[in-house]
Amino acid sequence: PPARNTDSAITPTDIPTVPAVVGARLSVPLVTGDRVTYANLDHAASAPCLEQVRDAVDELLPWYASVHRGAGFASQVSTKVYEQARDTLRRFVGARSSDTVVFTRNTTDSLNLLAKSLPRRTSVVLFDTEHHAALLPWRGPNVRRVQTPESPAAAVPALEAALKLCPEGPRLVVVTGASNVTGELWPVADLAAVARRYGARIALDAAQLAPHRPVDIKALDVDYVALSGHKLYAPYGAGALIGRADWLQAAEPYLVGGGATKNVVDWGDHLGVAWSAVPERHEAGSPNVVGVHALAAACDTITRHGWDRIVAHEQALLTRLREGLRTIPGLHELSIFHGDHDRVGVVSFTIHGHEAGLIAAALSAEYGIGVRDGAFCAHVATRRLLDRVDATEQRALRASLGLGSTVEHVDRLVAALRTLVTEGP
Ligand code: PLP
Repeated sequence: PPARNTDSAITPTDIPTVPAVVGARLSVPLVTGDRVTYANLDHAASAPCLEQVRDAVDELLPWYASVHRGAGFASQVSTKVYEQARDTLRRFVGARSSDTVVFTRNTTDSLNLLAKSLPRRTSVVLFDTEHHAALLPWRGPNVRRVQTPESPAAAVPALEAALKLCPEGPRLVVVTGASNVTGELWPVADLAAVARRYGARIALDAAQLAPHRPVDIKALDVDYVALSGHKLYAPYGAGALIGRADWLQAAEPYLVGGGATKNVVDWGDHLGVAWSAVPERHEAGSPNVVGVHALAAACDTITRHGWDRIVAHEQALLTRLREGLRTIPGLHELSIFHGDHDRVGVVSFTIHGHEAGLIAAALSAEYGIGVRDGAFCAHVATRRLLDRVDATEQRALRASLGLGSTVEHVDRLVAALRTLVTEGP
């Protein structure tokens, strides 16, 4: 079996065999005994489900039923589980008692919901390094993109300069906690302090930060946090937007339909609709109770395991990975900031003279290693970083670490890259 963190009470689910549904069609060469020896170094895309999360889902599966709409026992179970999950998310991000927790599909959905809930003429300020989920939902003449700063410290005056140019009226700063391209951390608390001075709210895209570092709304003094369950070791389909209720309460429902309404009456020529208050206002339709339960179970498991252990494990592997990568001829690591700054376990790089797609395919087929290649849904940022290292194509490779990552995975990647670079794929 693949090496596992034996000192750890927190483990991603094993992959005992190739799933039957794809087994006949996909070639996965590294099968040892009855186990796939798969080194998943693509946690930044999605992190595999934790055993504890799978157990929580298994427990609920026989009982899921309609939430908020049934008197039956299964409905009661589901409603309780769903509302408990809100409390768990609230605790996980240290929310204020007045904050609302809206369940969404993922971070993209959360940020689109926020974008649709902004008061009219809100000025939006963001850095041009953002993931598309945080870069694209904001429209109109009042959106200001701040050029990539040279360092985390330089981000603060750069934001201040942009805020000074904003017209009177509501303002929102949008910032990522950790870059999905380079893993570099943004100085969220310092940016929030500047935002406050200029009367702006601040939304944190925590998709990439939340799996790697604690997120504390109050300590960071941010107004909104958006996150995705599938990056937090839960299956797909559940995310959350947590934060100030007033803008969300004043906005039209994100989707319209059952669940978002208190009452609908037929007035003859039109329907009179009384919309629900947040969070239900933005949760029309039957909710993903199993996904939300999985997300909450992941948050609880991570909290119980302890951030100190999680960060120590990841940082030790990250150092080993970066040192190993530096020994590969022609390899250039991408960085947003000049110099070395705190980062989570995400590393993007190019290898001079080698196509990222070919290397990624060879890593998978010949070594059982899963990495990502491309521009990582952050095309503007990635291409700019590639230009800096004179890359010959507009694609990079990305290796990203998580709870199930091991020294063997890291060493396998470095050794495989060395072989591919010297001998060719
Ligand atoms: N923001 C960042 C920094 C991300 O890395 C991602 C996903 O890669 C997203 C937002 C979007 O997350 P999702 O695809 O779960 O909506």
